[in-house]
Amino acid sequence: MVAGMAVLWFFAGPVAADLCPKCKGKAYILTVGVCKECGGAASSGAFKLCRKCSVRLGQCQHCRAPLKGKPVELDEKANGKTVTAEIGQHVIVRLRGNPTTGYRWDVRKLKGDAIKQVGKVKYVQDKAPKRMVSVGGMFIFTFRAAKAGKAALALAYARPWEKKKPPARTFKATVEVKPATKK
Ligand SMILES: [Zn+2]
Ligand SMILES: [Zn+2]
Repeated sequence: MVAGMAVLWFFAGPVAADLCPKCKGKAYILTVGVCKECGGAASSGAFKLCRKCSVRLGQCQHCRAPLKGKPVELDEKANGKTVTAEIGQHVIVRLRGNPTTGYRWDVRKLKGDAIKQVGKVKYVQDKAPKRMVSVGGMFIFTFRAAKAGKAALALAYARPWEKKKPPARTFKATVEVKPATKK
């Protein structure tokens, strides 16, 4: 009983600050959850992040949506370009690829500490008819604008075992991070 009350008190407290507007109004189960990032205790079983990781990554504790506005989204068309982001904003890079060919996108270079990679690369396969297995999909990299300055990002599409061969495709972008504007 005492533990239950403590959890309720915690919910009325500073926890709400680390939820996105969509998740703020919801009721959550009052059990302790496990943080997907650090394995620490999250304040609800429905949460994917503990408060610390939520603050560090700038993501909602529940749905992991970025807490600072919409992310800056980049695809192949942004290759070679300079984009701007605000501190706390996420920068998402989506690049087409097909891992069944042995190729994969990787971060080759991240120069400057203005942005930091969040989590690992995700791969989302295109919807395909049953039994079709060699369809391509999207490699998704997430970065967080961490501090004001510039970061040079270089990604390469290559086969991990073909170290001496130049990559089949490359992607480069410069991210200029500006201090967050007050809203
Ligand atoms: Zn954590
Ligand atoms: Zn959320």
